[in-house]
Amino acid sequence: MTKKTYQKPDVSREALENTLADLTRKLWESNQKLEREEQTRRELLANLSHDLRAPMTALASAVELLQSGREINDEDYRELLGMMSRRLKTMQSMMEELFLLSRIEDPNRELVRERVQAGVFLEEFFFSNEADSKYAERELVLEVPEDFPYAVEIDVEQIIRVLDNLFTNALRYSDAGARIILGASVTGEGDFLEISVRDTGMGIAEEDLPHIFERSYRADRSRTPKDNGSGLGLAIAKGIVERHGGRIECSSKVGEGSCFRVFLPLAK
Ligand code: ADP
Repeated sequence: MTKKTYQKPDVSREALENTLADLTRKLWESNQKLEREEQTRRELLANLSHDLRAPMTALASAVELLQSGREINDEDYRELLGMMSRRLKTMQSMMEELFLLSRIEDPNRELVRERVQAGVFLEEFFFSNEADSKYAERELVLEVPEDFPYAVEIDVEQIIRVLDNLFTNALRYSDAGARIILGASVTGEGDFLEISVRDTGMGIAEEDLPHIFERSYRADRSRTPKDNGSGLGLAIAKGIVERHGGRIECSSKVGEGSCFRVFLPLAK
């Protein structure tokens, strides 16, 4: 019977210490990341409950008024119903977007990718919006080259969601007569499709620009007085684009307009 002998591993003390230091640093970094995520989650919850309170309070007072049996003239009655319907829509869109955000962040949910021709895909998206009456007072412009032979492998439903968010924002943060331009090109190195959504709307203040992709961030209402968004649209868009291995950027000037750029890896 052979006897097993203990062999000292051939590793220097210095190497072991380095490995330990490396592991400690990694652990600390992932802990920091978790803490940041937890903080964002807490802020999101706080913002959401704050944002839900305003429409809920308005709805509760409206219902109380209707129940009180007090005389209301036709015009006030219509206005009251209109207000209730707008508040309900805001709450509905907040709930939908929140649901979507949780689905996007679900690590178990795979993207359903399919190969699409970028030019054809963007044209279809553009024309379906052009036909939508909500854009009747905007000038929609398509700047996708006619011959654009590039393909991407995307989860079509999700990328449409991103473009929808950008278009809806361009509409929401602009006035009648503004232009909304959908463009496409390929980046210098030829490995990314660049989709741009530009508008000639109110633009974004410099102090808001670094935060607009954060969950539930909305610019100060004195700067952007439009109040029917959930503040989740751009966070959702960023999440979707990043899951595709891409990125999203924005440049903007108050009073001149904004430009959102989405970069998606081209199919091999
Ligand atoms: P919201 O539901 O409030 O529109 P988003 O996440 O879509 O939320 O956008 C975050 C904020 O970024 C908006 O509240 C608005 O202040 C600003 N923003 C987004 N898109 C535009 C745009 N095209 N023009 C001006 N401001 C914009």
